[in-house]
Amino acid sequence: MRLRWPSWGWRPGFGEVTLAIDDGPSDATPELLALLEGGGHRAVLFTLGCNVAGREAILVDAVRRGFALGNHSFDHPHFSSITIAQARSEIVRTEASIEAIYTEARVERPGKWFRFPYLDTGKTQSGAFQALLGELGFERPFVVGKRLVVFDSARRDWPTSLNTLDWALPDETDFRATMRLAQPDDVIEFHDKLPSIARYAAALVEELAARSLRAVVPGRG
Ligand SMILES: [Zn+2]
Repeated sequence: MRLRWPSWGWRPGFGEVTLAIDDGPSDATPELLALLEGGGHRAVLFTLGCNVAGREAILVDAVRRGFALGNHSFDHPHFSSITIAQARSEIVRTEASIEAIYTEARVERPGKWFRFPYLDTGKTQSGAFQALLGELGFERPFVVGKRLVVFDSARRDWPTSLNTLDWALPDETDFRATMRLAQPDDVIEFHDKLPSIARYAAALVEELAARSLRAVVPGRG
């Protein structure tokens, strides 16, 4: 049984989803986190190593408030266009900054989670990249795979099951129409970028509330 829930925006007994928020941190991250928190939501922030410098305090604050950090590579390459050695470097460099944030925050990291930039799992190298993720200790929580097709169920990276396409800056009505397709256990993809946050973050929270969905960090509830 859950002991706490917000007085509005979510009621116990309804569905949970995971929000995978890619590409941050950004200067707009605090605004995004405040909106999510106001609706009773938490998210996994799949950070880019190259965006962390100078924004460490934002991430320390985020993990202390119950958000989690995932790894989204260092500078967002297409993994099908890089070597295994380059992929290792991309992941390991970002791991160092994520670990430093958790250490500074004195918060236990809930898991080592990874998302491929552009959802590019590596094409012909995908098997080798999955092996690399395993070697580096990355594991996808069971709950995050519930809506995956069987073919992808062994993947260690996080998939997207509902793509809001916010990065393409659709009309807000189209963004809301996509959000109305959200179902319990979806992994909803959103981006920590100023244009997306300014245009859609409030709508994202409203549509989750309208569907009685609550975004949670796996294992944290
Ligand atoms: Zn990305």
